[in-house]
Amino acid sequence: MTNEAILYFDREHLWHPYTSTEQPLPVYEIIRAEGVYLELSNGKRLIDGMSSWWAAIHGYNNPRLNKAANVQLKSMSHVMFGGITHRPAVELGKLILSLVPLGLEKIFYCDSGSVSVEVALKMAIQYWYSKKKYKKQNFVTIRSGYHGDTWNAMSVCDPVTGMHSIFGNTLPQRFFIPSPSCRYVDIWEKDCIEPLTECFEQNADTLAALILEPIVQGAGGMRFYHPEFLVKARELCDRFGVLLIVDEIATGFGRTGKMFACEHAGITPDIMCIGKALTGGYLTMAATLATDNIATALSQGVPGVFMHGPTFMANPLACAIAKASIEELLSYDWKSKIKSIETQLWNELAPIAKFPQVADVRVLGAIGVVEMKESVDMATIQKQFVELGVWVRPFGKLVYVMPPYIITSEQLSILTNALLCVVKKQK
Ligand code: PMP
Repeated sequence: MTNEAILYFDREHLWHPYTSTEQPLPVYEIIRAEGVYLELSNGKRLIDGMSSWWAAIHGYNNPRLNKAANVQLKSMSHVMFGGITHRPAVELGKLILSLVPLGLEKIFYCDSGSVSVEVALKMAIQYWYSKKKYKKQNFVTIRSGYHGDTWNAMSVCDPVTGMHSIFGNTLPQRFFIPSPSCRYVDIWEKDCIEPLTECFEQNADTLAALILEPIVQGAGGMRFYHPEFLVKARELCDRFGVLLIVDEIATGFGRTGKMFACEHAGITPDIMCIGKALTGGYLTMAATLATDNIATALSQGVPGVFMHGPTFMANPLACAIAKASIEELLSYDWKSKIKSIETQLWNELAPIAKFPQVADVRVLGAIGVVEMKESVDMATIQKQFVELGVWVRPFGKLVYVMPPYIITSEQLSILTNALLCVVKKQK
């Protein structure tokens, strides 16, 4: 098949994320990926600024992850998890528990981030059901959040930037409070927690859980909020009898400078979702973790079992790769590496803040965000980035990077320089 034929079939028959089939945005054919580079079919190499949407933290074609995949393939790539267990699931589980906030003890492996959010929401409902609190069936969340594209995950995404306008009343109706007004870099203002306090005062008897992304709100606006909000949210959840679900799918595994973003606030949620970087971006896999308190209540109540069990639960190939990915992360001083990426992003993106078309520049860990005053034209801006040899995929007003941790300072400078040049060109 020629490269033209590939692009033709793609255009005619393949759906891409959030695109039209009638007027699809242009796509670029990648033929291989190695380290921090994505290679186009014309031989051009692009420095990856996206880590394939937070996932490929070690870059691509990593020898340790490749080896783990090859070894695991020779024994079994998949076997059902009903009535069966295996070493990859157990060894990965041990490793995960050694890293997550203290108190999370039980692991439910599942297929993708959105599914792990569905699982978390179901756990919360079933927890209160087993406690005979039948009214506690709803959720509250903060505005500008994003938790995935499946039905209930979608219902707790931001109702304006999310998809609520289309799916309207067919979605379960949730409680929304404003996104925390105190940013990560601000001095904490106690008013910031008022909306949540009020919501709990009025609705705690119908609330099963508060769900939020800790510290960094990703696809809903790339906002970084104050850790004290999370501390206070934990206290309020305890005071009002509402569970706390934390979605670490994007933030987990070092991205914000901590292994998990909860650590910025020193809290343990009742339920936590992880995914994306869990497998270093090799395969789709996620997990929902719970405290013993949650798991015990579920097991003692009626029906006494947790009602979920996906076909590919604890897929051995994904587990083996995930274990290797975590080992890779722990094999070097990742904290210092993220810190140096963070410092370089601040230094090199700071000049952009002065451009008239830019509303804000913010950095946390290995995440750099340029918020524009107007939405960018995706096709044009993407082409400009590709011409400069980098892969950056903006959305709306947000032009942002979250490179693989293996990026060198020279490569990162190429990326930030491209950002500077391209942003300057926008109206
Ligand atoms: N939660 C968060 C915070 C996410 O960023 C994402 C993915 N962008 C999801 C959930 C959904 O994960 P997935 O795309 O793997 O279903």
